[in-house]
Amino acid sequence: EKYVYLFNEGNSDMRNILGGKGANLAEMTNIGLPVPFGFTISTQACNDYYKAGKKISDTVEQQILVALEQLEEKTGKKLGDVTNPLLVSVRSGSVFSMPGMMDTVLNLGMNDETVKAVAKLTNNERFAYDSYRRFIQMFSNVVLGIDLFYFEQFLEETREKKGYKVDPELTAEDWQEVIAGYKAIVKRQKKIEFPQNPQEQLFLAIRAVFDSWNNQRAIVYRRIHKIPDSLGTAVNVQSMVFGNMGNDSGTGVAFTRNPSTGEHQLYGEYLMNAQGEDVVAGIRTPEAIHVLEKEMPDVYKKLLATCQLLEKHYQDMQDIEFTIERGELFILQTRNGKRTAQAAVQIAVDMVREGIIDKETAILRVDPEQLNQLLHRRIDQTAKRVPLTKGLPASPGAATGAVVFDADEAEQLGKEGKKVILVRPETTPDDIHGNVAAEAVVTSRGGMTSHAAVVARGMGKACICGCESLKIDLKNKLFTVGDTVVNYGDIITIDGSTGEIMLGGIAMIEPQLSEEFKLLLSWADQVREIGVRANADNPVDARKAFEFGAGGIGLCRTEHMFMDPKRIPIVQSMILAENYEDRKGFLDQLLIMQQGDFEGIFEAMEGHPVNIRLLDPPMHEFLPDKEELLVEVTKLQLTAPDSPELAEKERLLKKVNQLAEFNPMLGHRGCRLGIIYPEIYEMQVRAIINAAVKVTEKGIPVKPEIMIPLVGHVNELKRMRQLVEETAEQVMSATGVYFDYLVGTMIEVPRAALTADRIAEQADFFSFGTNDLTQTTFGFSRDDAEGKFLQTYIEQKVLPENPFAVLDREGVGKLIEMGVTLGRKTKRNLKTGICGEHGGEKSSIEFCYLAGLDYVSCSPYRVPLARLAAAQATI
Ligand code: ADP
Ligand code: MG
Ligand code: MG
Repeated sequence: EKYVYLFNEGNSDMRNILGGKGANLAEMTNIGLPVPFGFTISTQACNDYYKAGKKISDTVEQQILVALEQLEEKTGKKLGDVTNPLLVSVRSGSVFSMPGMMDTVLNLGMNDETVKAVAKLTNNERFAYDSYRRFIQMFSNVVLGIDLFYFEQFLEETREKKGYKVDPELTAEDWQEVIAGYKAIVKRQKKIEFPQNPQEQLFLAIRAVFDSWNNQRAIVYRRIHKIPDSLGTAVNVQSMVFGNMGNDSGTGVAFTRNPSTGEHQLYGEYLMNAQGEDVVAGIRTPEAIHVLEKEMPDVYKKLLATCQLLEKHYQDMQDIEFTIERGELFILQTRNGKRTAQAAVQIAVDMVREGIIDKETAILRVDPEQLNQLLHRRIDQTAKRVPLTKGLPASPGAATGAVVFDADEAEQLGKEGKKVILVRPETTPDDIHGNVAAEAVVTSRGGMTSHAAVVARGMGKACICGCESLKIDLKNKLFTVGDTVVNYGDIITIDGSTGEIMLGGIAMIEPQLSEEFKLLLSWADQVREIGVRANADNPVDARKAFEFGAGGIGLCRTEHMFMDPKRIPIVQSMILAENYEDRKGFLDQLLIMQQGDFEGIFEAMEGHPVNIRLLDPPMHEFLPDKEELLVEVTKLQLTAPDSPELAEKERLLKKVNQLAEFNPMLGHRGCRLGIIYPEIYEMQVRAIINAAVKVTEKGIPVKPEIMIPLVGHVNELKRMRQLVEETAEQVMSATGVYFDYLVGTMIEVPRAALTADRIAEQADFFSFGTNDLTQTTFGFSRDDAEGKFLQTYIEQKVLPENPFAVLDREGVGKLIEMGVTLGRKTKRNLKTGICGEHGGEKSSIEFCYLAGLDYVSCSPYRVPLARLAAAQATI
């Protein structure tokens, strides 16, 4: 079996074997780009390494040695040779890019002898010893596991002792001194001499890269991005080129388009006289790429041409690493660039306009989940803003939160539900949990391609980088800008699209869809074969949903109308009423209020269907909390034993006790309420039909769909349908206004799905209520499951996903399919939809399409996402 591939033996289709980096290095080699030669050890070798208990097999070792010989032949250099030594990088690279999460070692092959040869060959002693010390530092950290801190501290001490400010002031002799110090650190920390044998160095580094697949940050990153743990990483061994050879050398990163806005313009940054890590690590703030055009016009021209070629070749925006060695350009990596949602939409649409991709490809290019970012609130441009300072606008969006200075703190406070903004000199991959927990990240060092920026864009969070006027004092937990001191816990607001940082909070506005976004969604609408509706309970949400392209309301929860603080007292009185007459009086008051809501919703939807669910939750949800009430009653008994207030509270308490249930989720709710208190459902139906009459009279068409919740037996629906029809008939004949309406049910308990053929006899439509259906199918109470055991279930892979977030196709899905099939057997034209939260999740949407549902329904803000996901499911 082949485990090792020279760069000229692979291509970009071999990602699974070579990892993304290796596959693209091979592809670029084959299209003739200046890529330093090397070879790739396959992901299979990594998996075998783990299977064998972290052992590189003889076969793999043999193949590595053969490839090394071929590399030596091709470059004319030899690893460890004392006249013309080969130096290599050992780079990780998995199937899906995990920027900076795994390890890489540069300048491998350096030792006390080869360093002299390098000095001689390049006629540059300073460079040679600088490269050697970098190697010791990286190797010791990555392979030997020694904290970088010791090396950085030693270097700083040396600088101070010599009175230098920056590294370039160190001479060759100084670096030799540093090297001696570094070796002493290794000896002190690990009780070993720094390995001098380059072949031993190579194999140790390869093992370390394999091992880095399972370091903590890589594991966290994979969990966030749902990358399987089983893939493993490839290892790339590549001959070195040097950006630190002097002022005609440098290294940088370029994006073929702006990854933040999508603007079609080369975008990136570079550092002269530096090695690759310096740019990404954000240790020095680099120059913008257009400066290179002035500094080295020929190199810039070549870079631009290469970028254009790569973008055309891959038909997507590329993120490219390059190094300039003594005026010569080398390409070290290319990949499809990570981008914000705004950029993703802009680039997809532009590329269709430019004829690079077709509309379907454009639709597939944008991740629906990412679109959420575009629907976030933004700072109101008309609000007064007084920026405290400004950094680089590294990732757009606005955020307000309390300042914290370390990742663990961000995580801790995040868990407590606090909104925090992580402020750091720079972030490293070890801070990843902090990036996750924070609303936004601000760094005082590092550029637009630094770790903090890349991670933030990937996660759709706002980020400001390189804000150099911000002086961070980690010890005292504060930062200053001029005279202003901002302490730990103070609230700040940041605008990631301008780079501005403001004190306190600022007014935010609702999002709007850009022209490109609307265009992309219109293409999606042409392609998709499943409808998208919205869940909305009031006219404001309904209008928003309509604006975002909803084709109707899939679920209007009427209890939300009951929960309005102004209405709650009436609802309570209604529940407390001792007899039918009294109850009827309060119901009449509620009728008028509900009717107004329905009118607004019908008008907003301009003739599109509106599905209204009659009251679902158990009555006690509208009453005060039992424990609190008990406390109040006890107090009153002591302080005002004869007061009417006490009598009232006691009556309330009695009712609360009466209505209390052992298991409300499975208790007296849904149509069970409607059957016991038909007057409540009757009132609601009257309100709906009255509203429809009013709106019809205004000349606006209406399509009400009345939905009965929690039906498990056809007889429940039969009764409720009769009630709806009688009530509607009364209203219509009294007003003389007639229109069509539908009566149907939610399928949300297994029995309903199992007997869907019977239930369809009484239903015009089914709407799968997958929240309850998931609860009742698994027998999980959602509130208990999510807090108590579901997290562990997912971590330990008992369940692949949270079934309340991603529809469980195997179980709940089977019930849905059964419901659709049985239902349509009885009624060929039965309308079907889904209204659980799954209706806004892309994998669940795909399932709904495959199951043949007519529509999905989700919250208004997820409608654009669902339109796109529905199109993707169809393609
Ligand atoms: P990451 O995945 O963290 O970007 P890389 O393997 O891409 O890790 O390498 C880290 C840095 O080292 C990058 O800037 C890269 O361009 C640089 N680098 C890697 N290999 C070489 C090489 N052979 N010559 C010069 N620079 C290199
Ligand atoms: Mg890289
Ligand atoms: Mg339900």
